[in-house]
Amino acid sequence: MSHAEDYTFETKLLHNSHKFDSTTGAVSVPIHHASTFHQPNFDHFGKYDYGRSLNPTREALEETIAELEEGSRGFAFSSGMAAISTAFLLLSKGDHVIISEDVYGGTYRIVTEVLSRYGVEHTFVDMTDLDSVEEAILPNTKLFYVETPSNPLLKVTDIRAVSNLAKKHNALTFVDNTFLTPAFQKPLLLGADIVLHSATKFLSGHSDVVAGLAVVKDEQLANRLAFLQNAFGAVLGVQDSWLVLRGLKTLSVRLKQSTSSAQKIAEFLSEHHSVKNVFYPGLKNHPQYELQHRQSTSAGAVLSFELKDENAVRHFIENTQIPVFAVSLGAVETIISHPAKMSHAAMPEEERKKRGISNSLLRLSVGIENTNDLIKDFSFALQVSPEVSRI
Ligand SMILES: *Cc1c(COP(=O)(O)O)cnc(C)c1O
Repeated sequence: MSHAEDYTFETKLLHNSHKFDSTTGAVSVPIHHASTFHQPNFDHFGKYDYGRSLNPTREALEETIAELEEGSRGFAFSSGMAAISTAFLLLSKGDHVIISEDVYGGTYRIVTEVLSRYGVEHTFVDMTDLDSVEEAILPNTKLFYVETPSNPLLKVTDIRAVSNLAKKHNALTFVDNTFLTPAFQKPLLLGADIVLHSATKFLSGHSDVVAGLAVVKDEQLANRLAFLQNAFGAVLGVQDSWLVLRGLKTLSVRLKQSTSSAQKIAEFLSEHHSVKNVFYPGLKNHPQYELQHRQSTSAGAVLSFELKDENAVRHFIENTQIPVFAVSLGAVETIISHPAKMSHAAMPEEERKKRGISNSLLRLSVGIENTNDLIKDFSFALQVSPEVSRI
């Protein structure tokens, strides 16, 4: 037991406090469908009373993600947006949020269209520029909301620097860690207060479940979030909790293949004459390459690229055979998406353009297929694009 704390992340994915069920020895966490629990006697209630408040299957996932993120408590929600929205409920009327400008489209929507109605103010900033983060601070700033690498432009924010700034102003720092997962980045160790996840993506990894997670280190903050999770009630169901737990076991092996391919594909695309820009923090010319490698152990499996010819985007999508053309990311299969029309459709065109999310931008979430098959596929699709055929 004693050396279990020294296990590497890969080993902890399997050998953690839920390696087997303590009552039966089952090596797969039992799915407890019960919504309510019999209480032992009139005066003393057990640990579990009602399924929204706590359920043993959901609890297993919550404890596992807390261990993996090196926090003290985890919380599972019915979607990434449920996790993010519930965490935002820590704010009150009159509070101000400083938030990454190219944040996930759904987060943009809840901040601009929902929180604003409840008197929570916001300022979008380019979080890579610490001066502009500092300039955005107001007396009522209570939260710094970071997504790094950002979506879809893969900009990298210095988590430690922003957390320090937040602490100086008595504000909290939330980090959306969906793109890198604790396999590569542990925001709580860099000073963040809450780590948020769309577990729909890499953590579960198979495009078969919608789920969200939050992890907290500070006990008091954990109690406040636990209260909100129960009060708001957007908890994760037991079947879905189990699916995330199963997906987690292979997180490291999946990411190993996906990130190694992502690096090679990024290099291939950046040398291709039909490609205007490649956004991937694993490329040496990425503006925050050094920072990325200081605060994380990998650049991840998501990259974006812009084609020179906007009209070639349709041809490219129609001619690639392997990727699924879909929203979402972080799965065993490669997924290609068109942010302007998909993940960021909630953002007005003017705002999108301001953030550099052009119509010729494509986002690629690299799966676990053979790397050369993927490169061959992209090479073919780029060849038959109209821009090239005209030359
Ligand atoms: C998908 C995603 C979300 C939202 O998660 P859902 O599970 O779809 O609700 C939040 N942040 C990022 C970075 C995402 O990719």
